[in-house]
Amino acid sequence: MADELREIKLGVHGIVLHVDYFNGGGSIEHDVLYEVCSFCNQKDCVYDCDESTAVWSDGKDNEKKETTLAVSERIAFNGGVDAIMSFVLAAANAGIHVETPYFLEAIKTTLDAIGNND
Ligand SMILES: [Zn+2]
Repeated sequence: MADELREIKLGVHGIVLHVDYFNGGGSIEHDVLYEVCSFCNQKDCVYDCDESTAVWSDGKDNEKKETTLAVSERIAFNGGVDAIMSFVLAAANAGIHVETPYFLEAIKTTLDAIGNND
C-alpha cells in the first residue's frame, strides 16, 4: 500500500506521472527530446567528452567558440525541460488536478516558450 504509485497519463508530449502520494515525489516520463552533444549524444556534455576534445585539439578554436554558444543553449533547454517536469510532478503531489485542459495548456505553452516545437 505504502509504495503504491498512481499513474497519470496527460496525453501531452507523452507525459506520464507516477505520483507517490504517500511518500511524496514519484517519477515522470515524457517524450520531449533533450538536445544532446553531437559527438557523444549525452545531454549533459559540455564538450568535455573524449570525442569532442579530440576534434578541437587540432586548433579549430573559432569553430569551438561558436559551438560553445550552442552548448549553453542546449544545457539551458535541457534544464528547462527538467524544471518543468519537476513542477508538473510537484503540482500533482500537491493535489492540483494536472489533467484539466487549463493545466495541460499551461504545460504546452511553457514547453513552447523554452523552444520545443513539437
Ligand atoms: Zn560530448
